[in-house]
Amino acid sequence: MSEAPAPVLAVEGLVKLFGETPVLRGVDLAVGEHEVVCVIGASGSGKSTLMRCLNLLEQVDDGRVLLDGQDVTDPRADADAVRRRIGVVFQAYNLFPHMSVLDNVTLAPRVVHGLPRREAEERAMALLARVGLADKARDYPDRLSGGQQQRAAIVRAVLPGPRLLLLDEVTSALDPELVGEVLSLVRDLKGQGMTILMATHEMGFARQVADRVCFLDEGRVLEEGPPEQVLVDPREPRTRRFLARVI
Ligand code: ADP
Ligand code: MG
Repeated sequence: MSEAPAPVLAVEGLVKLFGETPVLRGVDLAVGEHEVVCVIGASGSGKSTLMRCLNLLEQVDDGRVLLDGQDVTDPRADADAVRRRIGVVFQAYNLFPHMSVLDNVTLAPRVVHGLPRREAEERAMALLARVGLADKARDYPDRLSGGQQQRAAIVRAVLPGPRLLLLDEVTSALDPELVGEVLSLVRDLKGQGMTILMATHEMGFARQVADRVCFLDEGRVLEEGPPEQVLVDPREPRTRRFLARVI
């Protein structure tokens, strides 16, 4: 029998303190290749801090983060090399306002990944066309709707071909009528085999698209499992109370 492949992402006992205050208290979770895992939880439960630790924007206080089996929290790990393997999109303000959409999308591939401009722009135009933004490529972000901006931000994150895409409440700042277009792009990315960890309050989306859902509660994964279990028939009373408030 062959050994199961290492998950793309494994988080083991992750602890993060802000001063004396523990914000992550031993988070365990894993994301396998081509999986979409949704992290749900109340505001302040630690979702963004978790995302920032995974992308090495925060130093962790204990535990490990393994990317393709490699401990990226090891101080000897090359943080820039790790970040090149992870695409990240936050809630808002993802695009540089003083650059065209095309420049926004091609900046990292050119500067960080060393792709020639021509090639970066060709790939960017193909991807922008696929998400319905080809005619916006030369515009500045303020000419785009919030939903278009987030779609461009997602294109920017996936263009370099990351192993893992981190999405932190990418629809939370959007007007309700713009949420669907962004979620449908995430769904397309899943269809293309992207591995995604996504903090979200969109329970309907999580139920339809996630392979697994993790309920983060006061800095711990209190419950995790298939969406039908966690979102419909949760074991933990705290999960049930949270869902009753948000659904
Ligand atoms: P979520 O994304 O689930 O809303 P966060 O990760 O943003 O939660 O925040 C978790 C907790 O950590 C909150 O209590 C928040 O106030 C605190 N926190 C987040 N960032 C910092 C920081 N840089 N310094 C101090 N406390 C922080
Ligand atoms: Mg957050």
